[in-house]
Amino acid sequence: MTATDTVNPAGATAPAAQVGAPTRHTVAPRSALKARGEQITLTMVIMIPLAALAAAVPLLWDRWISPRDVIIAVAMYAITGHGVTVGFHRYFTHRGFRTSRPVRVALAIAGSMAIEGPVIRWVADHRRHHAFSDRDGDPHSPWRYGPGFRALTKGLWHAHIGWLFDVEQTDQRRYAPDLLDDADIVRVSRLFGLWATLSLAAPALVGGLWGGSFEAAVQAFFWASLVRVCVLHHVTWSTNSICHVAGKHPYRSRDRSGNVWPLAILSMGESWHNLHHAEPTLARHGVRPWQVDSSFYLIKAMETLHLVHEVRWPDPQRLQAKALPK
Ligand SMILES: [Zn+2]
Ligand SMILES: [Zn+2]
Repeated sequence: MTATDTVNPAGATAPAAQVGAPTRHTVAPRSALKARGEQITLTMVIMIPLAALAAAVPLLWDRWISPRDVIIAVAMYAITGHGVTVGFHRYFTHRGFRTSRPVRVALAIAGSMAIEGPVIRWVADHRRHHAFSDRDGDPHSPWRYGPGFRALTKGLWHAHIGWLFDVEQTDQRRYAPDLLDDADIVRVSRLFGLWATLSLAAPALVGGLWGGSFEAAVQAFFWASLVRVCVLHHVTWSTNSICHVAGKHPYRSRDRSGNVWPLAILSMGESWHNLHHAEPTLARHGVRPWQVDSSFYLIKAMETLHLVHEVRWPDPQRLQAKALPK
């Protein structure tokens, strides 16, 4: 890969040389460094929801929660979570389907509301993950420090949270040129602060109006903003950490990605991660009927409603060819 090449968003389905094999290029290109203020904001974005989750247990015990809070939290989790899995991941990163401009923008906004960073940065990091998965250059491999208990514990921490504090950023011009050339997506990406604020404020507003009191607004903010953001963050990061260490490997992939069934519902199908690395552009990750994949159900429904088209569905023959002997 030369300095002017860009990474194929199709990820690992392309020959290794096309996606940046480390044999010719051991260090991934990076550009600007993250500012100190950004690091502090990131610490707060991680720590405040985590503190809320820690406080949630005794509050749950005290019954400081209502069905209203649960409904708002689950709705926000589903909207923002699928914004990431269907929008940021399967659509923007891997182009698993095509859609209209309004749906494209809506997916970018819904994903931004998960507060996992602006869409262009998310996509650039994830394409780099596929280009170098579990090798030198992968932004978040748990195998970074090698095998063995101590190295792997350190690596799991790095893959889960540590990598977010990496001051060196992925080169967006190289890994996401298609998005940088789209004025609407650049605008959505730049307005990240607005989507994050909306994501935190909307549950409080809905909860307050629904419950008719200030306390109802505070309660909804606690559960459907802070706790919801925390749970979704850790589920998303678990795909980077746990799903590259644990799980089954029914398909041939170039890395250590595994299918981790206990995370299937919460991760909205993303924990069928071995299949995903074997066939990155597929819009469906849980390819067996019993493999729960709510992102697939949503894309299927959107296809039926003609909201998306040219969906890349699994080809049984290709899957068979990639299957490893049991
Ligand atoms: Zn992965
Ligand atoms: Zn991916």
